[in-house]
Amino acid sequence: MTAHILAIDQGTTSTRAILFDAEGQPAAKAQRELRQIYPRDGWVEHDPEDIWADVLTVVRDCLAKAGVMAGAVSAIGIANQRETTLLWERSTGRPLHNAIVWQDRRTSDFCDALREQGHEPLVRARTGLLLDPYFSATKLRWLLDHVPGARVRAAAGELCFGTVDSFLLFRLTGGAVHATDATNAGRTMLFDLAEKRWDPELLDLFDLPAAMLPVVMDNCADFGAADPALFGAAIPIAGMAGDQHAALIGQACFEPGMVKSTYGTGCFALVNTGSDRVSSDYRLLTTMAYRLDGRATYALEGSVFSAGSAIQWLRDELGLIAEAADSAALAASVPDNGGVYLVPAFTGLGAPYWNSQARGAILGLTRNAGAAHLVRAGLEAQGYQTRDLLAAMAADMGAAPRELRVDGGLAENDWVCAFLADINGLPVERPAVTETTAQGAAFLAGLGVGVYTGLGAVSKAWRCERRFEPAMAPAERERLYGGWRKAVGRVLHESEGESV
Ligand code: ADP
Repeated sequence: MTAHILAIDQGTTSTRAILFDAEGQPAAKAQRELRQIYPRDGWVEHDPEDIWADVLTVVRDCLAKAGVMAGAVSAIGIANQRETTLLWERSTGRPLHNAIVWQDRRTSDFCDALREQGHEPLVRARTGLLLDPYFSATKLRWLLDHVPGARVRAAAGELCFGTVDSFLLFRLTGGAVHATDATNAGRTMLFDLAEKRWDPELLDLFDLPAAMLPVVMDNCADFGAADPALFGAAIPIAGMAGDQHAALIGQACFEPGMVKSTYGTGCFALVNTGSDRVSSDYRLLTTMAYRLDGRATYALEGSVFSAGSAIQWLRDELGLIAEAADSAALAASVPDNGGVYLVPAFTGLGAPYWNSQARGAILGLTRNAGAAHLVRAGLEAQGYQTRDLLAAMAADMGAAPRELRVDGGLAENDWVCAFLADINGLPVERPAVTETTAQGAAFLAGLGVGVYTGLGAVSKAWRCERRFEPAMAPAERERLYGGWRKAVGRVLHESEGESV
């Protein structure tokens, strides 16, 4: 088998390289944890040189483990943590500052001020996003304001801005290519989704020079080739997408209405809306799903801040379980949640609430409530939060999703998958390859070099490992979800009393 595809998945907490064979099966994998830098409360940074060194290491390790020479790799695909903002020197590739990570809140005040000045409708109309520090634009502005001389040099074209995909591409091609893809561009808060170009009015609003921006390409494209000095051969880079978009592709959600939900630290659900750019009445984000042959397919996205982190909390702070996987048996040891609800709003509530002041709560405790009820409540919260997102999607699209494809660490928990099916009243499908983000990057690269002939061929390569059918009576489903709605209502009410 010669048609190997190498996927690089550069995530927030780790960097992975996975080599896929022509059937789309993983043949080898290497991974490194990424060092997190917290210079101040609410600030999160990565050292770009760490990211680069980790990428080189995992790619080399992965090829060595597989016993495959670089010359036998047909293409590289890249998936990456989105929105994280980098600034580097065009002539040398030298970063001018640490990368500012998507979680970083240092530009909150600036975003609040812009919102108060009434700029959010423009941002929403052009980019599909909310005016929030999460996205790249205000982070980039911060860099230009704080790195001495950066603004002048950026205007003169001496500096490059990019998200992680763009930085990796620049380094991999030995500085030959400064480009990004449409899904990553779409998360900067600078990209006009309808016109498919950097938006001059937004560049003006954030005071950013156009000379520093990367070229925006389709998700499958000729992005250049990896410098042969790096891995021993010039491997074409043929696919690139932001991680959640790559996961949507890895789950083969190519038809309008198909939904995937990824459960890691947080939870990200995307529904394909086809060629329609649906704008949400429920504070979901409008985003590009993927762009192939110049044609955009869109998605609605809902992000929940705390998913797996709630399980980590039950394990590490409360000590109720030794391993995350133990949660399934403990939850199953009691017949029901005993009326206990856990709202994991540790860092506020994401979609569809977007309340950064909200904090977590446990409600409904009785003298009979025990560890098993609390753990069960933590797992059930995954189902309720997902239902909040799917309900918003259904309302925005005028049709409810028919099934849900799941991935991420938490999706390995059978109890969670079964509860997701029950509480949402739809079948839940878990794929054979759970590294869906890397698989999506590999699919894109494979499409780019013709290993796959089209999306139909990719759909055929996707395999379901297990399908969970809903088994709960509708009345019970509504009773349980009603309890969650009440619990969230109380958390939101409580947050209103907070002094900001
Ligand atoms: P990330 O990529 O965001 O770091 P992963 O996809 O690796 O996350 O998933 C890890 C998260 O999933 C952790 O928060 C962990 O607590 C949770 N998790 C992993 N396995 C299980 C399981 N079997 N049951 C419940 N939670 C799990």
